[in-house]
Amino acid sequence: MLKMKSACEKCGASLSPDGTAYICSFECTYCATCTQAMDATCPNCDGELLRRPSRVRKALEVAATQIKQKLFGK
Ligand SMILES: [Zn+2]
Ligand SMILES: [Zn+2]
Repeated sequence: MLKMKSACEKCGASLSPDGTAYICSFECTYCATCTQAMDATCPNCDGELLRRPSRVRKALEVAATQIKQKLFGK
């Protein structure tokens, strides 16, 4: 599962799980302002920064749903 880092690695701004953040494939995480300033390129790995999917539900809730679907099917 994607680790949801809670702060921008460049400027330290806090990032909420359901707010706007950008990540590279190594999960370096940045705020929208830094992403724009860096032209959407990760300074650590030169990878493309993409918008992080927001997480609006808690991991535990999702796990419960996944188990239910496995047990009760289709
Ligand atoms: Zn930042
Ligand atoms: Zn990176």
